[in-house]
Amino acid sequence: MAEENKNPHVAVLAFPFGTHAAPLLSLTRRLAFAAPEITFSFLSTAQSNRSVFLSDLNPPLPNLKSYDIDNGIPHGYQFKGNPLDLIGFFLGSAPVSFKKGMEAAIADIGNKISCLITDAFLWFAAGIADELGVPWIPIWTSGPVAISTHFYTDLIRSKIAVGPDGITVREDEVLDFMPGFSSIRVRDLPEGVVSGDLESPIARMLHQMGRTLIRGEVIVVNSFEELDSIVIEDLRSKLKQFLTVGPFNLCAPQVSVYGDDRTGILSWLDRQRSGSVAYVSFGTLMTPPPAELAALAKGLEASGAPFLWSLKEASKGQLPGGFLDRTKDQGMVVPWVPQPCVLSHVAVGGFVTHGGWNSILESITGEVPMICRPFIGDQILNGRLIASVWEIGITIEGGPITEHGMMNALDLILRKEEGRTMKEKVRRLRMMAEQAVGPSGSSNTNFQSFLKILRTVTSQ
Ligand code: UDP
Repeated sequence: MAEENKNPHVAVLAFPFGTHAAPLLSLTRRLAFAAPEITFSFLSTAQSNRSVFLSDLNPPLPNLKSYDIDNGIPHGYQFKGNPLDLIGFFLGSAPVSFKKGMEAAIADIGNKISCLITDAFLWFAAGIADELGVPWIPIWTSGPVAISTHFYTDLIRSKIAVGPDGITVREDEVLDFMPGFSSIRVRDLPEGVVSGDLESPIARMLHQMGRTLIRGEVIVVNSFEELDSIVIEDLRSKLKQFLTVGPFNLCAPQVSVYGDDRTGILSWLDRQRSGSVAYVSFGTLMTPPPAELAALAKGLEASGAPFLWSLKEASKGQLPGGFLDRTKDQGMVVPWVPQPCVLSHVAVGGFVTHGGWNSILESITGEVPMICRPFIGDQILNGRLIASVWEIGITIEGGPITEHGMMNALDLILRKEEGRTMKEKVRRLRMMAEQAVGPSGSSNTNFQSFLKILRTVTSQ
């Protein structure tokens, strides 16, 4: 009989772009707190580690340590503004970089690795886990419907003609051959499934991930069962184990760096009428093109609604001339806000968003209907879910944002009966999410199952 491993050591491998590393760290913290006998080594690039560990004001845990790995950027490379270049460099060197990082962690901790938990994007970790003779546990930081499109990419490609001509004629067809997809159309699929560049580094990565998920000991997702129950049930029947343990933002609320409200955002919100404020943010990567940014600004101004806009400093120059001055009593434009606190504030009545998964979960838990302007990846799919499946907002499909379109959208969400109905629906989802993370809720029960699996596989 194999001897029990007294010093289990889990390596956690992060994808250091967009909002991926932060939710993975949040889940790792929960695990480290619940299983103090297991040591967790969290591996990401230096920049990503600095950002997620610095903004995490929770007290440090003795069994959770970070290790920096190489970002793969060649010497002398000059960044020309396209983040996809950085992702390409990272993916090119990631298997070697992570192996080196793990060697450093093993030398430092003094124990071999007994399990690999990774961002699901890092599908090649299944092979590394095999080499190490340990299980691989992929964590999917977006929604179940999105992961299902990658799991079924080969099936979708076999049913839908791939390439621009095939797609154009069938883009309004629904994917009713997949469980839970009766409202999802071909045009809602993330690029790289049947449309766009199928050979881009991200498209290839997601395709490979979809094919590799079957090798995961358990697939863990930042969602809750009640949100997409049919899709979850289907994935559960196809994969070894599939556990929703979120929303992470409800399970492990982040301590906010803005807790002291240095920027005055929360006190400004306190002065606004309940449900009157439009909050605008397109996440950490996206900024609408200049013409849309200007149209959005004009739409906000013309609507007269109080607004709070999280806008990167570098983009402020693209706002219409005199906008900031004219609207100084109507709204605030700031480079960063404590978004979960903002969305939970009673004054906020609508969220203009790109449809990033974390933003959606925070909007649901804040009971805020959305106006979604999706750009890339799963955002288009998420926009469809928001508008046509959960009916908790509207989507500006394919853009562009126009001044009048934005005015009408704000009017509908903030002032009309439709907006009140969406608010009621999002309130119901919020209650389901809270129940899910409650003592006998699905996410809590699933987290306990996950912990049990982790303890079992790491003790061997
Ligand atoms: N966020 C924030 N303040 C801001 C803008 C964004 O705290 O001013 C956070 C937001 O709460 C969310 C994350 O950044 O957790 C954005 O994640 P999402 O998945 O929505 O989009 P991504 O950044 O991956 O595009």
